Amino acid sequence: MATMDMNLGLVLHGPKDMRLEHVPISDVGENEVEVAIASVGICGSDIKYWLHGKCGRYVVKEPMTMGHESSGMITKVGPGVKGIKIGDRVAIEPGVPCRMCQLCKTGKYNVCPSVRFCATPPIHGNLSRRYVHAADFCHKIPDHVTMDEAAMLEPLSVAVYSCERGSVTLGSRVVIFGAGPVGLLCHLVAKVNGAIQTTIIDIDESRLLFAEKLGVDHVIRANNYDVTELTKIILATTGCRPDVSLECSGADSSLNCALQVTESGGSVIMVGRGSLEPKVSVNVLCREIDIKGIFRYANSYPKALSLVSSGRIDLRPLITHHFCLEESIRAFETAISRDEMAIKVMIHCDQNAHIGLSEGKAEHPSTA
Ligand SMILES: [Zn+2]
Ligand SMILES: [Zn+2]
Repeated sequence: MATMDMNLGLVLHGPKDMRLEHVPISDVGENEVEVAIASVGICGSDIKYWLHGKCGRYVVKEPMTMGHESSGMITKVGPGVKGIKIGDRVAIEPGVPCRMCQLCKTGKYNVCPSVRFCATPPIHGNLSRRYVHAADFCHKIPDHVTMDEAAMLEPLSVAVYSCERGSVTLGSRVVIFGAGPVGLLCHLVAKVNGAIQTTIIDIDESRLLFAEKLGVDHVIRANNYDVTELTKIILATTGCRPDVSLECSGADSSLNCALQVTESGGSVIMVGRGSLEPKVSVNVLCREIDIKGIFRYANSYPKALSLVSSGRIDLRPLITHHFCLEESIRAFETAISRDEMAIKVMIHCDQNAHIGLSEGKAEHPSTA
């Protein structure tokens, strides 16, 4: 039986080999806090690491603790910590940069070469009972924001940053490729930013139905169309070219379609990363289309939190499944199961939240 002292965590040893085991916990150092982890969302990157032992250019070579979409309560504070105290509820921003280099100083800390990001090898994640993190990358949340919502500030930050990079604004028409959690969140953020029309394209019918319920203006099923056909279908459905295309699927064909369909002078944002060397036709550049990459996000957590705490974005419909830490592997299986129609699967590391979670689709638990 696991106890708090054992610091149970979910560790990836290699492809399809995750184990629940004891993970060491270090003492809190200068500017560090210990967090009793409450909620951890499962992300597409976690699934790639689990299934293939790698995600993009990152390869798991040593056992690695999973988890990077997390929230919890402060249990210890180290020397020099200011503005945060024991008992505070926080969302954990998982990427901690050096804070010293020119990129950090100019606010682009997401591309700091020394950034340490949870559950990106060789850095451990926080899917464990307790975890030590930099205090200034823990964002205090108000009482009415739940631990699950706080955990979801991570993918919401990706959406906030993507819309920022695409300059989604009042009157924008936005096409989103991929109706996974990030694609759906991009729709919600685009609407809050004033987008007049959002369209989502996916191959999964159930996800498109879900997108419709979330208020997406047009949904398009992408099955078996080539890029030219799909471009025509988008134009026929929406009546115009989008100003901004957000490519969240990672599929090369979607990237090519985004490049074809976007209005001259518009932007294509590569949110999802698929193959590292996609074959794309760049003749669209003569139409002054900006292709922009994104790498996670910078300075987006406070904005994401204000969207949720003010009630302008409701994340709750996206959180479809709940498991306790001991059921983590089943949680991952649920996340990839087509039958379960999972959007965001949440793992609860707080032992007090264990009761009633064993059925997976349990009621939204109180983890405060
Ligand atoms: Zn994530
Ligand atoms: Zn730096």
